[in-house]
Amino acid sequence: MSTITLENVSKYYKNKRRSGAGNRYEVGVENINLTIGQGEFVFITGSSGAGKSTLLGLISGRLKPDRGRVLLDGVNTARILPWHRERIAPLFGNVAQEHTLIRKMTVEENLLLAARVGRRRFESEKEMKERLKKVLGLVGFSGMERRYPVEMSVGEYRCVELARALINSPPILVLDEITANLDDDSIWDIFHLLTEINRRGTTVIMATHASRYVNIMRRRVVTLVDGQILGDVQKGKYGDVI
Ligand code: ADP
Ligand code: ADP
Repeated sequence: MSTITLENVSKYYKNKRRSGAGNRYEVGVENINLTIGQGEFVFITGSSGAGKSTLLGLISGRLKPDRGRVLLDGVNTARILPWHRERIAPLFGNVAQEHTLIRKMTVEENLLLAARVGRRRFESEKEMKERLKKVLGLVGFSGMERRYPVEMSVGEYRCVELARALINSPPILVLDEITANLDDDSIWDIFHLLTEINRRGTTVIMATHASRYVNIMRRRVVTLVDGQILGDVQKGKYGDVI
């Protein structure tokens, strides 16, 4: 079980762009109260700058709140510093907005690297290879272990990043805008894949602008406006505000 709870969480950025002027802090998110239980599928929506990436960073422990608390199964994540990264990282599989595969490494090398630096304990090299085969099969990439990132379409690239996020069997997947610049078919492939991953019990938390797809999926939709939650609707639609 891995329940995430944010209590009155705020995150501010020092605003380098406007230093000197009165307004020296930019709101990342403000006064967020949110609970996400194990196995949920949650879309985080809102326009650019609304705080989606900040919220995901706070959830996965990449960012520390300036106010409030982030709890994992009731434990304040700030309390378990300085072991924070080691304790928290294995819980999360992340796919960022940026493209992050290592260009000089094949698919297999990229994934095995993640398996080696991840803190899931594999019994043996053999078990690790089997897990590699399994996650590549899941994303439809069987037999493509030797391909390099430059040889892939953007959609394929995203699937390999998903496979890499999954190799250590994290209970929670955190995905930031991973369907940007994808064609329709690739987006559907990814949504189907995420549905399947979620069906097997993994929590999926996904920031997205893909309103058409959100509206068809009818999952929980959290809507951010200017760093605050203005909507949190089960079986919601894009932009639902309650
Ligand atoms: P998106 O709106 O698609 O989430 P942004 O263009 O807002 O992406 O942000 C891209 C990157 O720039 C992020 O890593 C974010 O942290 C950083 N960033 C966004 N706004 C600022 C800012 N005002 N000053 C410095 N960095 C920023
Ligand atoms: P979104 O992901 O919804 O586009 P972000 O979380 O990236 O939103 O940004 C929320 C707000 O925080 C925006 O006003 C953005 O400019 C600001 N921001 C994000 N990252 C940084 C940063 N590294 N430095 C300064 N401001 C930032």
